[in-house]
Amino acid sequence: MPPLSNRTALVTGASRGIGKAIALALADAGANVFAVATKPDLLEEVCVACRAKGARAIAHAADVSAPDAAEKAVERAIADLGRIDILVNNAGITRDNLIMRMKDEDWSKVLDVNLTGVFRFLKAVTRPMMKQRSGRIINIASVVGLMGNAGQANYAASKGGVIALTKSAARELGSRGITVNAIAPGFITTDMTAGLPEAARTGLLGQIPLGRLGAPEDVAGAVVFLASDAAAYVTGQVLSVDGGMYM
Ligand code: NAD
Repeated sequence: MPPLSNRTALVTGASRGIGKAIALALADAGANVFAVATKPDLLEEVCVACRAKGARAIAHAADVSAPDAAEKAVERAIADLGRIDILVNNAGITRDNLIMRMKDEDWSKVLDVNLTGVFRFLKAVTRPMMKQRSGRIINIASVVGLMGNAGQANYAASKGGVIALTKSAARELGSRGITVNAIAPGFITTDMTAGLPEAARTGLLGQIPLGRLGAPEDVAGAVVFLASDAAAYVTGQVLSVDGGMYM
């Protein structure tokens, strides 16, 4: 039997990149998928692909930084798919600049989406997961949240915050059978990283022991592991999926 059959996953930022690969991998592993993102067309395409794998899949357009987005999404997911066993907080953005040039609005927007959005979705699933006495929450952080990065103070602070939130939630929810873990991807080839100049890309390769950039599927595999029974005794951890960039 597939490892996640009869489970339902809510995945944010599922319309492309890492979130799309996560949705497809969860569907492959037997889970039903409630896919959230801002772009409805792309999201529906991902759901069609999940259904082709035998999953039930629902596309839900929402901005995770809107104050009521999480409550509404969780309510609809439970109404339409019955329950939420797995939450993957993947939606994220960058607004890069050096600190001295960074505008307040770029700081706030990144924190709103990448950290407050994660908090709200995590909070919204807490009650139903506590009732079930089971749940898996997986937050997509970043290697930058562990190491920092010049030009990404807002993004790094948001991802460092996600890691601290993950550990706090793991301590709070463990006794209710809910695990909370983070994944810290390194440099993954997606639209988010498409604009990186060739010289910077080559420089990065020199810091990666495995000698290649990551693929969205590399991250998706770690999500399936953390959502599966194989990870039942893993909580409060940050799993780096970065080719050895940070160790
Ligand atoms: P991407 O830009 O390709 O995709 C981001 C997804 O999030 C899209 O589906 C987009 O619609 C959605 N999204 C963005 N803002 C949203 C909002 N306000 N509300 C709802 N959905 C929203 O990015 P990606 O590279 O696939 O990154 C996915 C996650 O992985 C992010 O959290 C990112 O920070 C993290 N990450 C990426 C890398 C990398 O190298 N690509 C490395 C480390 C961490």
